[in-house]
Amino acid sequence: MVSPRIGSGGGHLSSLQAWYGEPMIDTTPFLVPPGTPIDLSMIDPRSTGSFDGGKKAGRKLHDELNDRLELLQETLYAQGRHRLLVVLQATDTGGKDGTIRSVFDGVNPQGVKVASFKKPTPEELAHDYLWRVHERVPGSGEIAIFNRSHYEDVLVVRVHELVEEARWSRRYHHINEFEKMLADEGTTILKFFLHISKDEQKERLQARLDDQAKRWKFSLGDLDEREHWDDYQAAFGDMLSKTSTDWAPWYVIPADHKWFRDLLVSSVLVETLESLGLQFPDATEDLTGVEIE
Ligand code: AMP
Ligand code: MG
Repeated sequence: MVSPRIGSGGGHLSSLQAWYGEPMIDTTPFLVPPGTPIDLSMIDPRSTGSFDGGKKAGRKLHDELNDRLELLQETLYAQGRHRLLVVLQATDTGGKDGTIRSVFDGVNPQGVKVASFKKPTPEELAHDYLWRVHERVPGSGEIAIFNRSHYEDVLVVRVHELVEEARWSRRYHHINEFEKMLADEGTTILKFFLHISKDEQKERLQARLDDQAKRWKFSLGDLDEREHWDDYQAAFGDMLSKTSTDWAPWYVIPADHKWFRDLLVSSVLVETLESLGLQFPDATEDLTGVEIE
């Protein structure tokens, strides 16, 4: 397999094109077609799709995709035309932070921003639920990664009955229209639901309890949330079937195996960015014959 590295050979642009069509995971089985009912209990969180290489080969392919992503992001930034919004949702311990860390490893922080959505502040609560979200979408040339998102407003809000059903159930429609507006105005949107099993969550919570370096992530509230596991799975299922659209598709990422999760998310990002036909812009002035003394 050809895997040109950044800075090797004929410069950035030729490397970018040399990579087109190089291997990655077949992502289509993980895409949620608009309107499909989703029963998460029927989707195996330990699946590794059609990839039969195992962890070591998976990590190696992921590293190659990571190099491609680095270069694509640099081009996106230099060109300053496209915008990419990446939405991550998952249960507690689902791996949102780990995915961001490993998928975007080495990507130039200039041009990539992460927005984490926590419990709304009183000021945020005094506004409509999209108010705090809209100001954090990407600008031209940027990638914005949402660690949780406006989808909390049909997830935690639904499970804990923070507003009545008549109100949250209208939000699927608002959200689709909001994302349509962003897409019409030039934003590419990708949404990933990281799907882990209840057993895997138990192990990850236990690891947080046992490991001093992970304890800061443990919250007793996570144990209460775990008791609502089935309600959350139902809420995630509705979210996926009602808000996967042609302009802002959801992918269900089997995420018990971290290596496969990272590989699949990277594959979707790389194939989507490659489909944009990104190019480094020309110099803004005529540089023919310029010599540097
Ligand atoms: P963490 O991601 O572990 O820092 O936790 C953030 C917490 O904020 C989670 O418990 C979320 O459910 C909660 N959260 C995020 N957005 C909202 C929202 N719109 N309404 C209520 N809780 C939220
Ligand atoms: Mg947490």
